[in-house]
Amino acid sequence: MTLAMSAIAKKLKAEGVDVVTLTAGEPDFPTPFHIKRAAISAIENNYTGYTINAGIVELRKAIADKFKRDNNLSFDPSQILVSNGAKHSIYNALKAICNKGDEVIIPAPYWVTYPEMVKLVDAVPVVINTTEANDFKMTPAQLKRAITKKTKALLFCSPSNPTGTVYSQEEIEALAKVTAKADLYVISDEIYEKVIYDGAKHFSIGSIPDVRDHVITVNGVSKAFSMTGWRIGYLGAKKEIVDAAEKVQSQVTSNASSISQHAALAALTGSDDEVNSMASEFLRRRNFIYDAVTSIEGITCAKPKGAFYIFPNLSGFIGKKAKGKTLRSGDDIAQYLLDEERVVIVPGSGFGAKNYARISYACSMQELEKAAVRMTRGFKRLNGN
Ligand code: PLP
Repeated sequence: MTLAMSAIAKKLKAEGVDVVTLTAGEPDFPTPFHIKRAAISAIENNYTGYTINAGIVELRKAIADKFKRDNNLSFDPSQILVSNGAKHSIYNALKAICNKGDEVIIPAPYWVTYPEMVKLVDAVPVVINTTEANDFKMTPAQLKRAITKKTKALLFCSPSNPTGTVYSQEEIEALAKVTAKADLYVISDEIYEKVIYDGAKHFSIGSIPDVRDHVITVNGVSKAFSMTGWRIGYLGAKKEIVDAAEKVQSQVTSNASSISQHAALAALTGSDDEVNSMASEFLRRRNFIYDAVTSIEGITCAKPKGAFYIFPNLSGFIGKKAKGKTLRSGDDIAQYLLDEERVVIVPGSGFGAKNYARISYACSMQELEKAAVRMTRGFKRLNGN
């Protein structure tokens, strides 16, 4: 759905239509200079051949240091697998642990890829619906109810795409008690770890001793360092899981790009100044777009504490008429905004929440200001004034 909406926006733009696109799943900043320099020097120094499948030792060591420093996770470099993006890491992890028919629990709203990946490894996605009233957080009771004899893993994401929800340490500890009792694996997707606001603190479930050996922690450089195209993600886990995931990777892609690995090494061993300035810019934008959207009559929205999306509830507009047609879902409302106001947002159906939509603020303030004016006008019209 995300890519489909982006494709429509691109096509309209190419036709010269003035569209505002709020679909981006990537930071709009350039990759920091020192990281680009490291890649150029990797090429100049001929680091252009295959590397060890799991990733160059220096990078795996830097990742192990990062996990210790930021997440209180202790891994030997042999417990790290570097892959072609966190997406690839999640797939490798699922492929390594799931047998046919195993169930994998996914709290909704979820990142569109999760259920599809679970299906790709012949496992079965089991969705837990969270509520806006509970900040889109899964409760331990909900998790307990969803567990069956076939449950193999929980796919967990905090800060979340698409809602921006960040679980607190206490909330994660309560969930970990449930996964420990049921002997579940947890794949913890922490890709938005550095994009976090309002004093919220990122907490890694793998740092809890009772579940440590059952947690596969996934992260990457895409979002924190604005490096989406470089395709470097990684996971850390118990050695036997890493070995299994590595076998999968070795037969499918071999190593991640040697040049990108050198760039990622510079990212993880360099200063976090640019990461922090990107996060403060995202905060400024979140405040702006959140205020603009929640001041529209009929829209409610949980305030996101991380990532770069807001996920407004559009149910107040279901049943309203536009050009004689009744709007029946978030899909219809997104289509209406595109047709009438030339604003592109991603309908919530792809994220498992059909009366919602995802608005990305990974774009300039100027674009956001334009979008705010257009959305306010479009929804006002639906409200009949
Ligand atoms: N996990 C989540 C929740 C994401 O939103 C994304 C990208 O949109 C990824 C993982 C994938 O990141 P990467 O670029 O490292 O594959």
